[in-house]
Amino acid sequence: MSSPYYSISEYYKDTYGEKVYKLPIKLSLTCPNRDGAACYGGCIFCSESGGSFENLPSYLTVEEQLEENKSYIGSRYKAKKFIAYFQNFTNTYMSLDEFKEIIKACNKDYIVAVSISTRSDSVTEDKLIFLNEWSKETGKDIIFELGLQTANYKTLEILNRGEDLADFIYACNLINKYNFRICTHVILSLPWDDIKDVRQTAKIINALGVKEVKVHSLFVIKDTKLYQMYKNNEFTMPSKQEYEENVIEFLRLIKKDVAVQRLVGRAPQEETAFCNWDTSWWAIRDEIVEIMNNNGFVQGDKSERIIYDKIKGV
Ligand code: SF4
Repeated sequence: MSSPYYSISEYYKDTYGEKVYKLPIKLSLTCPNRDGAACYGGCIFCSESGGSFENLPSYLTVEEQLEENKSYIGSRYKAKKFIAYFQNFTNTYMSLDEFKEIIKACNKDYIVAVSISTRSDSVTEDKLIFLNEWSKETGKDIIFELGLQTANYKTLEILNRGEDLADFIYACNLINKYNFRICTHVILSLPWDDIKDVRQTAKIINALGVKEVKVHSLFVIKDTKLYQMYKNNEFTMPSKQEYEENVIEFLRLIKKDVAVQRLVGRAPQEETAFCNWDTSWWAIRDEIVEIMNNNGFVQGDKSERIIYDKIKGV
């Protein structure tokens, strides 16, 4: 089955000449959306683990986590090149000195890039200036992962994101000054969004020069506010078919060179009350690919058509 979208593995091969794997690193951190700096309580869908289920304990140093994960992932997949991936919580929510230390610990010959998950309101220029110097000195690429989830500010309020679209635009503009890559997380089965919100989210991503996306459906994790809302029937979860239609529309609208990290997220069954309509992530991905291939849809075909139609109309 040929891929109708530009997958991240294709991007890695185009850029690094071979497969590249992420080495997750967990730090002892929190998030300004939990401790009151931005908001209390965190996003309604976020678990106590802060966004990932597959990490080594945070008491291990960055170097220990890199080495341990490399020896496991490296031997399993015969991998040689890796990305140091600061995944949980807000990985710029610390002093500049602390930040420098964790980044400097990633200066290994097997690391080709450092990926930093953070919030838009926590991207500051002092850290970008340091990263710019460090990247030039070491040759490592820098990727920022920012959660947008949706361009709909009303939905962002329901999600208790503690930041809005303007924060995201501000952070992207700041990061783009230094030419670092931006990866954006979006949730395309939000009960409060419709297809117009999906389209708007895709167009915002194009407009801000985002280079990678991670697409998720909405999970209901058991220790969250969303779980309480789910149990109280406070919203209707969109169907799998609606999710697939949203993902396809989103892919058709984003530019062809935006690398897609994933089309469906995953979470352990025992931790969730609702996850991917009890369907495996790869089955949903395959259905999306099949629908696109059967209809001749490819990533970016609508993005180009919009521009073409506009030019024609001049
Ligand atoms: S910003 Fe990220 S880490 Fe913080 S509460 Fe929201 S999802 Fe969780």
